[in-house]
Amino acid sequence: MNDKKLSNLFWIFTFLIIILLSAFVYFIIQGKSQQGKAVEIYVNGELIDTVSLEKDRTFFINNEFGKNEIRIKNQKISIISASCENKVCISQGEVHTSTAPLVCVPNKLVIQVINDETDVDLTV
Ligand SMILES: [Zn+2]
Repeated sequence: MNDKKLSNLFWIFTFLIIILLSAFVYFIIQGKSQQGKAVEIYVNGELIDTVSLEKDRTFFINNEFGKNEIRIKNQKISIISASCENKVCISQGEVHTSTAPLVCVPNKLVIQVINDETDVDLTV
């Protein structure tokens, strides 16, 4: 093997390592961003906010269709008071997976959990 071939091999090798490293970093960043569970809040079919479930809090969603008080606790979200008449949304209780969204039909409110892929790890 002559020097030129060795040098070519060296550069191909370096190039491959750089590609592998960037792919590695890319996947780590992606994995981290997916760890945080959050909810998407829709009113009348429009995404109005994305809220993290990592931090406990209580807040209101107040608009022309009605008012809902939302509570986040222990990475679970629930509607604890509502201006609607049937209160079905309150009876849905606490939600922490993307399987079924929290819905208040009269107030046109939908709360959908996202990024819950890590759920299996957390519950085992
Ligand atoms: Zn309701």
